[in-house]
Formats: sequence, structure tokens, C-alpha cells
Amino acid sequence: MEELQSGLNDWGLFVSTLPDKGRCLFTTRDFHPGEAILREKPYASAPNKSGVESRCDRCFGTSNLKKCSACQVVWYCGSSCQKEEWKLHRLECDALSKLDKERRKSVTPSIRLMLRLYIRMRLETQRVIPATTMENYKLVEALVSHMTEIDEKQLVLYAQMANLVNLILQMPNINIKEIAENFSKLACNAHTICDSELRPLGTGLFPVISIINHSCLPNSVLVFEGRSAVVRAVQHIPKNSEVLISYIETAGSTMTRQKALKEQYLFTCKCLRCIKVGQPEDIKEGAILEGYCCKNIGCDGFLLRDSDDKGFICQLCGLVRSKEEIKEVASEVKSVSDKALTSTSSQNYQETISTYKTIEKLQRKLCHRFSINLMQTREKLLKMFMELQDWCEALSYCRLTIPVYERVYPKFHPLLGLQYYTCGKLEWLLGDTENAVKSLTKAVDILQITHGTNTPFVKELLMKLDEARAEASYKLSSKEDE
Ligand SMILES: [Zn+2]
Ligand SMILES: [Zn+2]
Ligand SMILES: [Zn+2]
Ligand SMILES: [Zn+2]
Repeated sequence: MEELQSGLNDWGLFVSTLPDKGRCLFTTRDFHPGEAILREKPYASAPNKSGVESRCDRCFGTSNLKKCSACQVVWYCGSSCQKEEWKLHRLECDALSKLDKERRKSVTPSIRLMLRLYIRMRLETQRVIPATTMENYKLVEALVSHMTEIDEKQLVLYAQMANLVNLILQMPNINIKEIAENFSKLACNAHTICDSELRPLGTGLFPVISIINHSCLPNSVLVFEGRSAVVRAVQHIPKNSEVLISYIETAGSTMTRQKALKEQYLFTCKCLRCIKVGQPEDIKEGAILEGYCCKNIGCDGFLLRDSDDKGFICQLCGLVRSKEEIKEVASEVKSVSDKALTSTSSQNYQETISTYKTIEKLQRKLCHRFSINLMQTREKLLKMFMELQDWCEALSYCRLTIPVYERVYPKFHPLLGLQYYTCGKLEWLLGDTENAVKSLTKAVDILQITHGTNTPFVKELLMKLDEARAEASYKLSSKEDE
């Protein structure tokens, strides 16, 4: 702990332990919005396996991949990535090579993450990889595992996975119970490594960043540059404040957020948003984000269940919507959604799109215009139209999602910035340069805070904005000439 403290001093941070929260990360100086608070390389990481697509084990890239010829499990994009990983992969490669073909298939990303955790620990004791103040196995040991709160079924699963890890590694003096406990640690501490557009690439364990606690209204965000995790301030953080990030998707009612946190992270959030649970403002927000819309066309009111539970009353105009009618539309939405989920990928795209259009139409009848579910359906349609390169349809759905994004996310949220970016790119493609400049400017304002100004991703965005501006002023001047 003292060692870690000296490492954190350089960042302007310190760890404190609070009785009801456990370890917390605090600042020893002010941080301004956009400033990197902490950077950490993964102690162990593994790329995702997503169907046909494989990823380089080091950089998570997908081009020019070649399989490691010895184990036939791990992929690399080239010799430099392979060389960099060899210290770690050498032992793993030996172990994996001994497995028969069927067993190799059972080596999931979580199993690999655990293999690498043990290999790294071993190399540390053998001093092949040095233990540093910010990178050592002791930091992994200090993570919470919540073993006593896990249900029987999960424990059995962890025990099975631990047995497999033991079988693969065949290390002397390895404790199966400890491996199982480490699986539990990974479940509540490992982070999904994403690209700049927040698409998941893999999983990593970042023991120092794991000290940072959750808030549904955080002062910082976690983003990734390659495999490295970066925590950035999204607001002014004064000296002696706790650094807080969000572990979950924060768009949702307090009940939904609390449920997600309890299920995956086994704690009850007491953040500034969550302590308002049950208060009129919180009930209203929940009813808007996850409730129903008024039958009165043009009325923007939110609905609450009436006292004798016969229906839902609009809090603005007083109109009652019957329970039966709501049930009917809701079950229609469910049956169409089930159909969409079970339909195979071989089904043609147009059919899937028309299914989602039906869902969207039904949800518009059912949900409030700021509904999260409706937004998610539109998000799916946006993605599908992008895939089809139907920019016009894509833009119309993108624009419909923006007011909801603006409502559910704080001012500097990566998802809001990325949505403006998508909107701007679509507007530009469709020749609407003037609006493209507006959207890209909004994207820049947010993403240079959340992603930093020096990343290739933000540099590209800045370049696009410059180009769009030049084009817009050219268009304007040629109009004036006419
Ligand atoms: Zn690579
Ligand atoms: Zn190999
Ligand atoms: Zn909360
Ligand atoms: Zn109404």
C-alpha cells in the first residue's frame, strides 16, 4: 500500500479507506476538465472472440492477422506485436499447445485472462517481469472478490473454470479455491477495453483503476488508448475530492441503475442521483425514461399509476390510459421484438429493418418521447441504415436520438459526443455542410474533454471539422457571388 502511495503521489492522487465504501481514490491537487488523471496498462488482458473476427493479442487490431503456429489459439498482426508479448505468451503457448483440439475451443477470453494473470504473477516472482509500484500482483490481491455474496450456481461455475485453468497451467502449488476467487474478482473488477467509438475489443484487469469507485453522476470517465486505460476529468475536480467513474450505462431510472449495480457489482449505490430515489423528481424521471406516453396527441405529460391500480394517469392533462390497453401494445412490442431476436442473421437485412420499424412504431404509441427503449430501437435502425449506406434514413434516426441523449447524459459524456459526431458525418455526406459544422463542433467540444486532444481519433475529428468549415465558407462565398 505504501509503495502504491508513492506511485500515486506523482499523479496527484492518494488512496484512502472509508468504512462504508472501502478503498477510494482522492486527488491531492486540482484537475481541470479534459486532464488525464491516471493512465494504466493492463496487468492482464485478452481480446474478445466475436464470431469470425479475431484480434491481435497485443494491439487488438484485426488486419494482417496470423495465428501463433505453435498453439494455434492466439493471433498477432505482425512480428513486433508477437515479440512484445512473447515473455508472457511463452508459458501460455506451452500450456495451450498440450491441449487437444476440443479443449482448445473451451479456452474463452475469461479463461485466457486468468491464465495470463497467473503467468504474470509467476514471471514476477521469477523476476522475469519486474514488479513496480503501480504494477504488481499485490495490487490484484487487494481487490474485492465478494465471494461470500455470490450464489451457489455462480460458485459452481467459477470452480469449474478454476479446474480448467489448473488443468491448462499445471503449475505446482496452485490453489484452485484461489483461482475461483480470482474469477469472482475479475467479474467485479475487470474492465471492457473499447476503441475510441466505445466498441468493445477485449477485457483487461487494471488493479489501480479498480480502486476508483462508481457514481451515476461521475466527475471522470474511463477511456482507452490502445490497451491502456485513461481516466479523464470531465469537470473541474478540486483538491481532496474523490475521483469517480461510472461502471454502468447511466441512462436509466434509479431503479434500473441500482439493479444493474447490485447484479454485477454487488453494491447499493448511494451517489447524488441515487439518494433521490422515491422523491417526486426521481419518480418523474423514471416515468419519462421508462414509462408510457399520454394518449392525448401533443401532450408531453408523464404517466403514473393511479391509486386503485386501474390505469395510468397523465400528470399534465389528467387523461387516464387503461392498463389493458397498455398491456396490449406492450405485448405486441414484445412479440415483435422476440421475433427480431430469434430471426437468424441469414434473414435479409430489409426484413430485419422492417421488423425494427414496426417495433419503433409500436413504441411510439406506447412510450414517452424520451423513452430509453424507443431510443435504443432508433439506435439499432441508425446502425442498420449506416450498414446499408442509406445516409438519409440513418440521419433521420440519428436526429431522433439526439434529444434523448441530451436529456439522459451529462454535458461531457462520450456517448453524447459520439452521437453528434455521427450526426455531423451524415450531414456532411448528404451535403448539408452548414449543419455538419454545427454537429461536428458540438462533437469536438465534448470529445476533446473525454478523449483528450492528442489522440489520433480526436485529431481526425478536428481535421474533419476544419474541412467542413472550409467547405461551408466556400459554399457561402459562391452563393454570394451569384
Ligand atoms: Zn498487433
Ligand atoms: Zn502460441
Ligand atoms: Zn448512483
Ligand atoms: Zn396528457
